Amino acid sequence: MQFCAGDIILRSAPYGAALETEFLSKACSYCLTCKPQLKKCSACSTVFYCSDQCQESDSDDHKFECEALSRSHPWVPDAETRLLCRIWFRVRRERASPSEESVLGTVRSFDSLMTHRDERDSEYIERIEKEIGLQVNRFLLRMDRPSLEMLVTIFLKMDINTHQVTSWDGPMGCALYLGGSIVDHSCSPNPKITYFFHGRDFVMKALENVEIKGPHELNIGYVSFILPRDARREQLRERYFFDCCCQRCVGEEVVTNLGGSGLASQVESLRNTADCETKYSGLLEMSRMDSVRKLPPNDYVQLSLNAGLFALCGTLARYEEAALVGYRILEVYDKMRVAPVHTLYLLCQVFSAALNADWYKPQNEHNFEFTALLVLAEQRSQVIWGPDHYHSKLLRTMKNALIH
Ligand SMILES: [Zn+2]
Ligand SMILES: [Zn+2]
Ligand SMILES: [Zn+2]
Repeated sequence: MQFCAGDIILRSAPYGAALETEFLSKACSYCLTCKPQLKKCSACSTVFYCSDQCQESDSDDHKFECEALSRSHPWVPDAETRLLCRIWFRVRRERASPSEESVLGTVRSFDSLMTHRDERDSEYIERIEKEIGLQVNRFLLRMDRPSLEMLVTIFLKMDINTHQVTSWDGPMGCALYLGGSIVDHSCSPNPKITYFFHGRDFVMKALENVEIKGPHELNIGYVSFILPRDARREQLRERYFFDCCCQRCVGEEVVTNLGGSGLASQVESLRNTADCETKYSGLLEMSRMDSVRKLPPNDYVQLSLNAGLFALCGTLARYEEAALVGYRILEVYDKMRVAPVHTLYLLCQVFSAALNADWYKPQNEHNFEFTALLVLAEQRSQVIWGPDHYHSKLLRTMKNALIH
């Protein structure tokens, strides 16, 4: 099938979705969008909606959850347990005619999702039965609860197929998509296609004119794309039960692993440090070490270190540094042909940082590189989010400030 730039290839609404507990009062439980003025569900006083329409649209999924939340108040189970229960209510409700979704001719129902049950060890299954079972029983006290077998089945399907719903501020919830579950993994997805979350929907769009022969050509990365080959393959095997045979896994690898596991785990433990200032000085010190400086920019140690520094510089309002580090990362991402939406999120953050650091001023020596990136970023943003979106407007303002 032929798609033109900007065409939607796939748009999938969640089969089930749940907000992280800290987002329950910040975002609408139906459209999963953060809004300032939300209306509380008067029955359970736990979930919020941005409009009567959203509340109405969620009523089938919220009905039994509302009953459970009202009784368990003020205890609220975590997002995973709430998602599992929402899915259970839906499976039960649709017993006679289960929902189906079709993507480029392939049909998915909840029933057809994989569990990989035979590949799990019995201790793992026992742990689900015990730990998740306990939460679900406590939440659905005296209500119609799933059998242990059903509970494990739903949990395993969630484990393989759940997406984190991300917003500009980071992860805000989890959702399971029937249509989205058709999309397989690749460590180097087609750069002509991008994916993103639009409110509650999982969307894939063509960035350029592209021909897609079937759903097997729609890919996203299930694991971090900056990981070197062996680490990626190990995670995919352990978590998703397959050996990746994508172009990057069987051909030439773009991410080098010259830093070795010693330096890599040092970066990792620094990135896990809770205190921002300690983390920042640790990462900065490491980036100045001779053994790190001699590594190429596409080495895993460099990539991971810079990604950590970049996020921190934003948090600590060190904008000029954020812009510099961000620019360094972008150069490598472009060579790696990383999925455009990741690059674009990063671009927007870099440009916000640059804007805050007054980097768009005409006399700045980095202007040339920035202008080229801005033009690209603005084009992509228009295709992905449309011209009136906040990101597109931000990029346009900056481009105009630089060019004129
Ligand atoms: Zn809403
Ligand atoms: Zn309610
Ligand atoms: Zn691969």
